[in-house]
Amino acid sequence: THFGFTNVPESEKESRVGAVFSSVASSYDNMNDLMSLGIHRLWKDHFVRSLNPGTPVANRPPHAKDQGWNILDIAGGTGDIAFRMLDHASNINHDLQTRVTISDINADMLAEGRKRSTATPYYNTPRLSFVEANAEHMPHIPSDSVDLYTVVFGIRNFTDKQAALNEAFRVLKPGGVFACMEFSKVENGLFDAVYKRWNFSAIPLIGQIVAGDRDSYQYLVESIERFPSQEEFRGMIQKAGFLIPGKGYENLTGGIAAIHKGIKP
Ligand code: SAM
Repeated sequence: THFGFTNVPESEKESRVGAVFSSVASSYDNMNDLMSLGIHRLWKDHFVRSLNPGTPVANRPPHAKDQGWNILDIAGGTGDIAFRMLDHASNINHDLQTRVTISDINADMLAEGRKRSTATPYYNTPRLSFVEANAEHMPHIPSDSVDLYTVVFGIRNFTDKQAALNEAFRVLKPGGVFACMEFSKVENGLFDAVYKRWNFSAIPLIGQIVAGDRDSYQYLVESIERFPSQEEFRGMIQKAGFLIPGKGYENLTGGIAAIHKGIKP
């Protein structure tokens, strides 16, 4: 194939992924809006609403009732999901205790998130913290310590996705929730044909024109192509030990993206 990343060995992949996100960190929002025609914002709002962060947690010991949720937002980069979750907890559930740790492998993405956080009420408060870490290995995070683990448009870039899922399982408390939103497989054949055309021709071109970086966006398209189907990914979540609620996933916009959930027993 003529695509740049296909023959990259696994060992080199991690640093290449790093380069991709360093180069897109500042243009990240504009690109997302252009590529998804703004729809990623609606998906993110929906994702957070469906998790309803900050609701009182049932069957917690009495002393822990008012402590809010301990949320770990993996690959949280620019803070997009973290700020939404904190807004939801504060404004919808009147919970001012829930806190989010944004964890990302890339220092440039974290710097961008920290910069953006200065415009939020959570800047410099115990409700928001930043950690640089690889999601596949997080020895600094204790086992059974997290109420909600989120990973949004992140896991498809991980080298060892199963390792990251196992690590999610370890850090969650029993009863804790794993929630992932990721690009997935479009279910309708005709729509899929249109979508693939958009991905493989429009997105690298937009990347070239807007960000001056065709290769990074080419890589993003390829990583979407390679990511497992809804059912395969659900199987990986199960394999990590999670219980699967209901069907286990929800398709968004015909399967362009999907939300997967798991519960630690
Ligand atoms: N969640 C944010 C959003 O939806 O706007 C950012 C998603 S961004 C497309 C993907 C992020 O995954 C990047 O910030 C990248 O640095 C991070 N990432 C890639 N590999 C990672 C790994 N192994 N561990 C943690 N983060 C990783």
